Amino acid sequence: MLTDVDYHIHSEHSFDANVSLDQIIDIAHRNKQKRISITDHDNIDAYSNKAALSKAAALGIEVVTGTELNINTPELLQQFHLLIYNFDPDCEKFHHLLKVNKQTPISNALAILKHLELTYGVEFCELDYLKIMKDPYSQALINLCHEYPKIPIKQLGFYNTIHHLPVGNALPIKDLFAMLNITDGDAVVAHPGWLSMSIPSLKSFFSGLKDLGLVGIEAYHPDHNNEQMMLYEAIAKEYGLLTTKGSDFHTLDKEIIIGRGINNNIRNRKITYVKKA
Ligand SMILES: [Zn+2]
Ligand SMILES: [Zn+2]
Repeated sequence: MLTDVDYHIHSEHSFDANVSLDQIIDIAHRNKQKRISITDHDNIDAYSNKAALSKAAALGIEVVTGTELNINTPELLQQFHLLIYNFDPDCEKFHHLLKVNKQTPISNALAILKHLELTYGVEFCELDYLKIMKDPYSQALINLCHEYPKIPIKQLGFYNTIHHLPVGNALPIKDLFAMLNITDGDAVVAHPGWLSMSIPSLKSFFSGLKDLGLVGIEAYHPDHNNEQMMLYEAIAKEYGLLTTKGSDFHTLDKEIIIGRGINNNIRNRKITYVKKA
């Protein structure tokens, strides 16, 4: 069992993060991390920085490939995040999976906006906020604004609503796992504390995903309290899943520290996930 690991770090390749891979490796080294994973949202661009990856190796830090997928699934009335590890960054099938999964929220955003236009006919469009966002949702909304100038994109609140809407036309989760299972990737549900589910539905959610090929649960995350961490650990044990931990580091100006979380709340947690050889 390992403790000096951080399986959930965002680099500047995430739309909401701004630290370079080089800086992340320096911090991980300072914080005595033995193994880390860069898990940018819906992309694996960090893994083309071979110089930074060699530096990590020279410092004795193993970098496990990773990414954090935004999952919209018709089976579940909420979005969730799925961490994928240990794939080959050059695997074409993996790139295909990233592409297909990314297209889903775009078509969803379009469908939602068309619906809003028809239903409410609001005539206001503000692009200022969206312009600074690089994620597929915002890009889709910007494109749609050009196409339909009277579409409502009123404010940040509305944007967030769009981001968290349960949506249709999504990729069925079994199809996503089928695509994932032909690559070598290991799937782990990120920060289950974000899910609004009762314990029984959480358990059936995990056992259903386990049947499809889920490998683990991110039991230890800065947003989880001790009780939640214990709960996810117990659920993992009950369903034969492994546990991982991650700081979900995004920026230097937040209280989240690589390998430590908030106030060291993930620092000494022992995980059971070990990447395949
Ligand atoms: Zn997440
Ligand atoms: Zn994250």
